[in-house]
Amino acid sequence: MTEPSTLVVLPVLTERNRHFWQGGAQGHLTFLRCQTCGYYLHPPIPVCPVDQSKDLKPEAVSGRATLASYSVNHHPWLPGFELPYVVALVEIPEQPALRLTTNLVNCPLDEIEIGMALRVVFRHFEDPGGDVWLPLFEPDGDRP
Ligand SMILES: [Zn+2]
Repeated sequence: MTEPSTLVVLPVLTERNRHFWQGGAQGHLTFLRCQTCGYYLHPPIPVCPVDQSKDLKPEAVSGRATLASYSVNHHPWLPGFELPYVVALVEIPEQPALRLTTNLVNCPLDEIEIGMALRVVFRHFEDPGGDVWLPLFEPDGDRP
């Protein structure tokens, strides 16, 4: 789905974060990963915090997550958000403590549960500085 980019604040793409914001073009949630020890880095930084390696490359993960925390927002802080919207902190199963702040979508408010199984969906925004695919999360109906 393409929506006008004027309605949301889009990230500024850099060579360090482009994989994350544009991985959705291929349907992939992508993190920088240390090629020496396998550690995923998010947000992306130039050196692995585990072994100080600079051999880092973007790698796709499964796109699955579990809901760690959330808040329901009823205030229109920015134009273009449908109210209410849900800010979610999700845990990526590929690595303990690999977490992502995102939005929960396609989920009735009374069905939100901490620990629920989620999967990534992408919302595409066209932007002259480089299109962005925002990674959002929805209930994963294929898992309990
Ligand atoms: Zn490392």
